[in-house]
Amino acid sequence: MGMRQEVLFKIKSVELDKINLPRKVSSYFGENTFSTEVMRKHISKATFAAFKTWMSEGKTITLKQANEIADAMKKWAMAKGATYYTHWFQPMTGLTAEKHDSFISFSGPGKVIEKFSGNKLIQGEPDASSFPSGGIRATFEARGYTAWDPSSPAFIIESALGKTLCIPTIFISYHGEALDKKLPLLRSDEALNKSAVGLLKLFGHKDIKKVFSTCGPEQEYFLIDKNYYNLRQDLIMAGRTLVGAPSPKGQQLEDQYFGTIKERVVNFMFEVAEEAYKLGIPIMTRHNEVAPHQYEFAPIFEESNLAADHNQLLMELMKKVALRHGMVCLLHEKPFAGINGSGKHLNWSLADDKGNNLLNPGETPESNLQFLAVLAAVLRAVYLHADLLRSSVALAGNEHRLGANEAPPAIISVFLGAQLTAVLSMLEKGVKARVSKRDIIDLGIARLPRFNKDSTDRNRTSPFAFTGSKFEFRAVGSSQNISTPIAIINTIIAESLDYVAGEIKKVTSTGKDFNSAVLKVISQVIKETKDICFEGNNYTQDWVREAKKRGLGNVAATYKALEALTEEKNIKLFERYKVFSREELIARYHIWIHMYNLTLEIEANTLIEMVNASIVPAGYKYEKLLARTLHELMALKKGAGLRLEGVVLKDKKDHLAEVVKKIYYVRRNTNAMAALLEHAKKLIDEKRAALYFKELKPLMEHVRKHVDQLECVVSDNAWDLPKYREMLFIK
Ligand code: ADP
Ligand code: MG
Repeated sequence: MGMRQEVLFKIKSVELDKINLPRKVSSYFGENTFSTEVMRKHISKATFAAFKTWMSEGKTITLKQANEIADAMKKWAMAKGATYYTHWFQPMTGLTAEKHDSFISFSGPGKVIEKFSGNKLIQGEPDASSFPSGGIRATFEARGYTAWDPSSPAFIIESALGKTLCIPTIFISYHGEALDKKLPLLRSDEALNKSAVGLLKLFGHKDIKKVFSTCGPEQEYFLIDKNYYNLRQDLIMAGRTLVGAPSPKGQQLEDQYFGTIKERVVNFMFEVAEEAYKLGIPIMTRHNEVAPHQYEFAPIFEESNLAADHNQLLMELMKKVALRHGMVCLLHEKPFAGINGSGKHLNWSLADDKGNNLLNPGETPESNLQFLAVLAAVLRAVYLHADLLRSSVALAGNEHRLGANEAPPAIISVFLGAQLTAVLSMLEKGVKARVSKRDIIDLGIARLPRFNKDSTDRNRTSPFAFTGSKFEFRAVGSSQNISTPIAIINTIIAESLDYVAGEIKKVTSTGKDFNSAVLKVISQVIKETKDICFEGNNYTQDWVREAKKRGLGNVAATYKALEALTEEKNIKLFERYKVFSREELIARYHIWIHMYNLTLEIEANTLIEMVNASIVPAGYKYEKLLARTLHELMALKKGAGLRLEGVVLKDKKDHLAEVVKKIYYVRRNTNAMAALLEHAKKLIDEKRAALYFKELKPLMEHVRKHVDQLECVVSDNAWDLPKYREMLFIK
């Protein structure tokens, strides 16, 4: 029996102890978080008031007050059994990072006490010189500093033998440059706040102090049995399968989507949800996705900063809990070829501090005008900065989704739905100098309907779709930290909100009444940005041609998409809104190109080893079997007079020759890959990335093609790599 087949016999569901009836979620939601409510209970009124002012007006607290909060946090965490604390941050690797410290300090010779000061709460110094900085940190000041982000509550992570207090932090250089993904997000919310509040003032909302972005990321993922995973070097090293023949049954029957969730999987989902609820992560929906063994979790939306932290935490939880159930959670964008990959639909909207969603049409003509003004700003932002949106989802994993044979394409466009499109086209036709009540009714905006509530009016192929009261950015990859996409969306929208407000002011200053001025600006924006709107099927070649005619970008390569970060117009934009400095932006460009290269190198080197140490030897075994069979048959023919017809012998010989040839191709392309990697060492990162995209990836595909053909003929017990039909179907 082969290695792979042995593993097949080991696959079984994990035996779970039956637990008592689950607790009511409301009774423990957020119990492991140091929420504002918990903080309020543990600190003085004055300090709490100072903290609230910090959050709403940005006036920082004193060190004494920080000490009080730190002490309360420590007491709370220790009462829950925590013995360590860590500043939890999000370096540019896209993962989360933590360096744990114990609460202890010496209180006398050989004696310790638990201590945690305001200083330690506010600032940490993880000596994190190995994190990527893209050249921001020179080696002589290699330190990075973590600084408390009080807008995201501290939380406790439990493991079997202990608990750790985690404090969300930003990660900055000595000079304050952002070395992480979180600080730019916080800055972008600041920018958005200013611009949106400014626009709302024009609409007469003098009482609104704060506008922020809200976000609900829908997390897709695959689960496979750990026993299979252990035998797949490619999954372990690269997170995706680099070879593997398609399973005869894939997703063509569409029998998985929203299907009954297998018990083993639903148990996993229950446990993830319980862990998430303890951390205050509002998981809401869970279901089977389109591909076999593909699933989704979606949360209730939250303020973006929290949503981003929560999504990072959720991904960590999913990986951890899957292992407890004998499975591995795959977050890669394309773990299996030939079936759907995984994305993370980023639902995004704007909310004010009075609880209004700015992308909800209202009940009155005035509120609808405001809704349309915000909508126009979104259209303009996407139209002008599609390149930045594309760059925000540029990574090696996502390259297999965007612009490949599945959704969404690398062309950024906006879907609005039939009703809204109709309204906009009326507006576009232009408005009169003076708009009467009657005109507003005629324009169809006196009372706008609730859009797209009917899910049949959905366009699931659009990368940036309006879905009733929010936009859904569907190009984000499943493994991505959503902070950067959100920061980019926030910034480009902030700029367009400013633009719309500025234009309205210009028009009213000529004496025009406010409503007419707003309509005029909206209609002008609609006209100018029309090309970004597309209601049809985004997966067709027709759209690719049409988009080209319209001059829309269609950038398949990651390294090309990332170039947007180096363009002067974009650098200026981010500088103006204080989201990234020039250095910070360029640093990110370099880091992400470099990460692309590293990813490709890991993949290619893994493939080379798999081919040489596992696939080719399996091929040789089969080759030998065929050669020996042929040899023995010929001997029998000669010695014992076995009757063998010519066609029979020819068939055997042809088959052997075919296998020999396939092995040859596999080896030839693999050697070419190795040579190319060697050559690439001499190139700078940009050139290297281009070479990998243009030449290494096609070579890898060639290798794969022949390997997959071999997989289908080599005797089953000689093939050690778990097959798609097993990984995806035996549960
Ligand atoms: P849909 O079916 O239109 O996708 P759902 O209600 O299922 O809508 O929501 C999908 C995701 O969008 C959820 O995670 C949800 O929390 C999020 N979402 C809903 N409204 C908003 C909003 N105003 N801002 C951000 N995200 C939102
Ligand atoms: Mg959705």
